[in-house]
Amino acid sequence: MDHTLEPHVLIFPIPFQGPVNCALKLAELLCLSGLHVTFLNTEHIHRPLLRHTQVLSRFNRYPNFKFQTIPDGVEHEKPVSGDRFMEVMAAVDAVTKPLFREMMVSGGLSRKSDRPVTVMIPDACFSFAIDIGIDASIPVICFETVSPCCLWTSYLNLPTLIEAGDVPFKGNDLDQMITSVPGTEHITRRRDLASFCRSDDLSNPVIELIVKEAHAVPRAHGLILNTFEELDSLILPHMRKLCPNIYTIGPLHTLHKTQLTAKITSSQETTFSNSVWKEDRSCISWLDNQDPKTVVYVSIGSLATMTVEQLLEIWHGVVNSGKPFLWVRRPGSITGGYDESQIPAKLLARTKEIGCIVEWAPQEDVLAHSAIGGFLTHSGWNSTIESIMEGVPMVCWPYFVDQQVNSRFVEEVWKLGVDMKDTCDRLLIEKAVRDIMDQKHNGFTKSANTWANLAKDSITKMGSSSIQLGRLIDDILVISSTPFDPK
Ligand code: UDP
Repeated sequence: MDHTLEPHVLIFPIPFQGPVNCALKLAELLCLSGLHVTFLNTEHIHRPLLRHTQVLSRFNRYPNFKFQTIPDGVEHEKPVSGDRFMEVMAAVDAVTKPLFREMMVSGGLSRKSDRPVTVMIPDACFSFAIDIGIDASIPVICFETVSPCCLWTSYLNLPTLIEAGDVPFKGNDLDQMITSVPGTEHITRRRDLASFCRSDDLSNPVIELIVKEAHAVPRAHGLILNTFEELDSLILPHMRKLCPNIYTIGPLHTLHKTQLTAKITSSQETTFSNSVWKEDRSCISWLDNQDPKTVVYVSIGSLATMTVEQLLEIWHGVVNSGKPFLWVRRPGSITGGYDESQIPAKLLARTKEIGCIVEWAPQEDVLAHSAIGGFLTHSGWNSTIESIMEGVPMVCWPYFVDQQVNSRFVEEVWKLGVDMKDTCDRLLIEKAVRDIMDQKHNGFTKSANTWANLAKDSITKMGSSSIQLGRLIDDILVISSTPFDPK
């Protein structure tokens, strides 16, 4: 085997907006450091990415970067909602996995090829990549884009939860504390575990997928997380006992933006959108006309959906709070036959006065806008860490996967907002929105500022996340030139 191979990283995200966005940012950071990077996208997600962004021209400036696509057997033309998550993952497992194996073991990116990959960075959810890495003699560093608090409580400890008899739940008491997970005994109730833990069937495909991941990730060479050390100081020491080599490089979007802005010339492209929907930037002009910290931003991300009944509760709650609002209503995100003619005229009229509704927003810019005072969110991890970065308190209305854990940590650990999980009531929503927006009378602003400052510190030159990114790059160089050791 040739041990003087040129370092060449393969990045392979699961085909959804959040993970692809994070993976592109990581890819660009590695490119900026001079590493060769191949970005492997499944066809289903690559099409809308090319349609709605400038990624091709943006990445064209890196001669050391290459996009490559791989079939995934997903028929849908447009990005799918969360209820189809497992459908996409099953198609990828059936169609992509064998192709990927061939590509890495004996094909175009294998050790035998002209451009051999020396380190693989797959999404941690693609745990099959770890075995493929062993067969292909290529070290694997996993990238997990869900929150570390969820990764710890509900993924890495899922086998423990099952063994302890905590999952599946016995009885209906969702408020029972979960005591079998080290570090979070006083925080996590059953309802705060990842949503799939509510299943009463251990052969549920999501549970099977996550159990596989729990067994595989500790076998990888390392694990990349989108967090910073202080934010997850409660769980990182526990996690490191299982996965000693963790790279905390968050908030990734700001680390990326800071390093990119420092390195590109002013004539070069400076928009960083990786959105698989068309961003409507008109909302930024609307925000420009609002007073500082007065607007509540409402978004449920790229996968969550709400029923018409839930829409009406949230809508009334937000309007009745009296705060101006910017609301993202992603196409397909309202289920059950939305019909505007059925919406009370008063609600529509008030919305015209104080609201702005768009299909997809440039969210990072929205959250960074001075007019934003609060975020009613589904508590996706990217949205949460973007909000933390900008010091914006949150009302959390989690939908699935890590969001149930994130919303608990937002309220209970970081004291950054109100967790509305398992409720959807206009009066509660109105109160929660007032609570986070009323800066004089809440403690959220103080903790939001504290966390935002710590986040900013972490991405300065000597900050923990910058140092961890440097360590990741150094390690890639070292393991690329070291004989493969499957341990
Ligand atoms: N996002 C965006 N525009 C929108 C709504 C969301 O750019 O109108 C981005 C947001 O900034 C975040 C991602 O989409 O980076 C959503 O990821 P998250 O992990 O919060 O939730 P998911 O969509 O995976 O459920």
